Amino acid sequence: MKITVLGAAREVGRSAFLMKSDNASIMLDYGVLLKREPIYPVHVKPKDLDAVIITHAHLDHSGFVPSLFLSQSSAIEVLGTLPTFELSHLLIEDMIKISGYYLPFEYIDLLTMMKHSKSLQYREQYAIKDVTFTLHESGHILGGATVFLEHAKKHLFYTGDINTRGSKMLRPADLDLDAVDVMIIESTYSQTEQTPREQSETELLQYAHEVVERGGTLFIPAFSVERAQEIACVLKANNFSHKVAMDGMALKANEIMLRHPNFLRDAEMFKRSVGDAEWVTGWKRRKKIVREPCVIISPAGMLVGGSAVFYIQELAKNNKNGIALVSFQGERTPGRELLERRVATFDGKVIKCSADIKRFEFSGHNSRSELFEILDRVKGNPKVLTVHGDETSCVKFAEEIKEKYGYDASAPNVGEIIEV
Ligand SMILES: [Zn+2]
Ligand SMILES: [Zn+2]
Repeated sequence: MKITVLGAAREVGRSAFLMKSDNASIMLDYGVLLKREPIYPVHVKPKDLDAVIITHAHLDHSGFVPSLFLSQSSAIEVLGTLPTFELSHLLIEDMIKISGYYLPFEYIDLLTMMKHSKSLQYREQYAIKDVTFTLHESGHILGGATVFLEHAKKHLFYTGDINTRGSKMLRPADLDLDAVDVMIIESTYSQTEQTPREQSETELLQYAHEVVERGGTLFIPAFSVERAQEIACVLKANNFSHKVAMDGMALKANEIMLRHPNFLRDAEMFKRSVGDAEWVTGWKRRKKIVREPCVIISPAGMLVGGSAVFYIQELAKNNKNGIALVSFQGERTPGRELLERRVATFDGKVIKCSADIKRFEFSGHNSRSELFEILDRVKGNPKVLTVHGDETSCVKFAEEIKEKYGYDASAPNVGEIIEV
């Protein structure tokens, strides 16, 4: 098989890998890199493709798939789990709605893409011409999968985004696989050991108690898919007794997730976590709740839009309130500004923040040591491609893998072709 790297090479975003067998052409993810203007993966002719496999709903993996369906007559199959399709629909629709930039596709193309979707169960074998593959739980977000693919007795393992320790919401990634010949592995935190999850939870809990018990409101801006729900689960699992509210697109994600209990680690616990929270709908309630001592969880995670903008403007004024940043804060986002300079700019309006600000690490990705544990567990003598990380994270990770395991490892560039 031949693999062409079309994106996520020494960068985080626009994941896209084209796998070619003797007869089939299969795309593994086709995402966008969201900067001020989105950056797309290398173009391919849709008519040359047989299928696209989407590992999970995050836009850096799913966001550009509709561009392959500009022609209604497309015969491409789109494969993934059912929650991946429902969550992708939600996120891509939102991207189309809020994009102030030009997008080369429209809502109708998203609908065409969905018409071509076929949902698979984890470990359900599926064939595309001379290729067979299975999806395996990735532990990263609901419905997220890794891909294990076979052609001519060669095996490819693509991790997508992976979390082998699991979370309050999700089971750990499933690494019970046959021997691998080529592996595409994410490198996001290959050079970083993140704060242990239990420690982040304890610290967040303490902070939530502190803010609410002094009569303040704690605002937690969080990505609508996964992080918002995970934080609600963390509070519930630790018996947090004060009011918790959720708002914005997180509510739509809640609804989707509640429909897929078997993809959750503990469906009952999840139901209680998001079910016992108040779902804030409407401005009347929103304006009132900012004066109540409680915890409010709402997107956007980096404060680039959504009801988060309203909450920050309201809550920033008073020093008894708190803001807990639990998501990654990209460069030049209001979230990063807030963290570094205690101000945030919305539509040119500068808001000075008197409220308390704290940052907590709650990543859905493996830490450095856990990435190496994957390599310890994978069987075979694979060629390894390190992707989905910044330049240093990909290059150093490849060097370390070569040294430690003796594998042929490299951090590929965009356009590179690898043959096994
Ligand atoms: Zn992801
Ligand atoms: Zn990703």
